[in-house]
Amino acid sequence: MTDFVGEIDQFLRRLFPICRSITGNGNRKTLSILNEIVPIVQYEVPSGSQVYDWTIPDEWNVSDAWISTPEGRRIVDFQINNLHLMSYSVPIQGRMDWTEIKPHLYIHSELPKAIPYRTSYYKRDWGFCVTHDQYAELERSGGNFEVVIDSELKSGSLTYGEYLLPGRSPQEILISCYICHPSMANDCVSGMLLTAFLAKHLENMENRNWSYRIVFVPETIGAIAYCAANEKVMEQIDMGLVITTVGGPGKIGYKQSWQKNHAINRMIEGVVGEFNKDFITYPFDIHGSDERQYSSLGFRINVATICKDKYYEYPYYHTSLDDLNFVKAEVIHQVLLLYIQLIQKFEQSFDSMGTYSFVEVLSETSDMSPVYRNLFPKCEVMLSKRGLYPSSGGAILPREDSWGELDKILSLLFYCDGKQSLATICRYLNIPLDEILSTAAMLEEKGLMEKVADE
Ligand code: ZN
Repeated sequence: MTDFVGEIDQFLRRLFPICRSITGNGNRKTLSILNEIVPIVQYEVPSGSQVYDWTIPDEWNVSDAWISTPEGRRIVDFQINNLHLMSYSVPIQGRMDWTEIKPHLYIHSELPKAIPYRTSYYKRDWGFCVTHDQYAELERSGGNFEVVIDSELKSGSLTYGEYLLPGRSPQEILISCYICHPSMANDCVSGMLLTAFLAKHLENMENRNWSYRIVFVPETIGAIAYCAANEKVMEQIDMGLVITTVGGPGKIGYKQSWQKNHAINRMIEGVVGEFNKDFITYPFDIHGSDERQYSSLGFRINVATICKDKYYEYPYYHTSLDDLNFVKAEVIHQVLLLYIQLIQKFEQSFDSMGTYSFVEVLSETSDMSPVYRNLFPKCEVMLSKRGLYPSSGGAILPREDSWGELDKILSLLFYCDGKQSLATICRYLNIPLDEILSTAAMLEEKGLMEKVADE
């Protein structure tokens, strides 16, 4: 195939500086640039629309934002790096001293030179993300800062893109990426760019067996809105890919789909193993990207990810150091070739695809433990409106060794299908039953699950 490195590099440089969020003009501009690679149909979901348990928020756009000294020198400037402004910050204009501004400043605990990435989509707030030097300078300066956030939050819409490529069969493969992060090259830009080039490859492929559904959505709420708008067609999807973080210098890795014996995982192992035996396997877990929605109880699509420097795993994750020094077009191209090989495997295996069911993963048991059913099986429930999720986003990393409350909540909602007992689920997840009982009871009390048997 054609060597796209030069082209990828140009697009990378054009897409990187754009201020994106879950809504706003930056996303439309991003899709229209990607539209130069393949024809992407843009859809708008109006603010206030109900998508399962979620509501599409007001649209957010920013013109400018800064903190300047009394002399008018900008210490923090959105024009220099859009990560300086917490995403979804409300408009502000005024004079403030250090004590007023301090609670609205965010720094990275381990990387002094990095600007961290923070969001507050669903709680009206404002904030600036700064380096340690900027923080120290603000503290030293003491006060009478001019603080301006020239943003706008008003009824508008959430934008997503879609490109459908029909094949011989109506059975579909989903390819999804997210378009909602501001200036970070590996997390977000690399994924959507690779997806567009993969779509171009599929477009040029003659006699496709599978049909391909390629979507460009804001992460989480955009994927949820997509599922809600396409509930019926989602049933045609046999498996899928979430393409993200494909441009870093680290090792190739892949995140397994929720059923580890599913054919998609074996095919990926074949492809990445041929490329380099030394790849990382990340078993499925309930954190991650939009596979959380597509694989939720109501859809149960096996969705996997091949990446190079996977989100969560690299030190620059969700910071300004995830930039064009960290990510290279050559690397994105290298991973693109792996995805193209994977597509070949999909096409070759079209007639021999087996079907898999939940029962194969969890062995039947006769344990004496309750059976719960998630009452919101399609996509995740909105935990933050129930006080079960931190309202400021961007800083969440999954557990290392111990189970936090959020891990338990997400796991129960993912696995409690009304058939498997809690003991079975706990054995599968390798967590003691008595550590999860109170979480299950809490979710029942909150109206998120019901107990269908009390064995
Ligand atoms: Zn991210």
